[in-house]
Amino acid sequence: MTRTALYPGSFDPVTNGHIDILRQSLALADRVVVAIGIHPGKKPLFSLEERREMIHTVAQESFGADAARIEVVAFDNLVVEAARAQGASLLIRGLRDGTDLDYEMQMAGTNGAIAPDVHTVFLPASPTVRHIAATLVRQIAGMGGDVSPLAPASVVRELARKLGN
Ligand code: ADP
Repeated sequence: MTRTALYPGSFDPVTNGHIDILRQSLALADRVVVAIGIHPGKKPLFSLEERREMIHTVAQESFGADAARIEVVAFDNLVVEAARAQGASLLIRGLRDGTDLDYEMQMAGTNGAIAPDVHTVFLPASPTVRHIAATLVRQIAGMGGDVSPLAPASVVRELARKLGN
């Protein structure tokens, strides 16, 4: 049996924090589907295609042959429906702090109530990346700051290109 995990988020852009969660997910599942959420009315910095491309590149750089076990899709419906569409029994969420926990507990409870066949798995952020948030990466890069401690080199280059730094 192939065990599939869905890892949903915005990934705008993918950061060292996301990579940490992806690494842990690869140890739990045979196949990890990174699901980029599309929210109408929310204008991302990077297009869907750009985000997809960056995740593929970073997966290759970080995981080598295991990158073949990672897929990237987009979704604009309920996350549990996206999980079912991919045949995923696991829904991966990363936890950085108590704020994440409070919000994620509510989401996990709600998703569990409407889709008991999809099991939320919380993965703790590694100590070296638990401060990282994509929002801060965008803000710092937008103000010309050095984000190389927070995101992979290929993403840092894309940020510079996008923001004209
Ligand atoms: P962000 O919250 O940084 O904008 P996303 O919305 O793309 O990123 O987050 C997708 C998932 O990745 C969420 O479960 C989030 O908790 C997790 N995540 C994001 N950054 C980290 C990190 N530094 N460590 C652990 N998990 C993280």
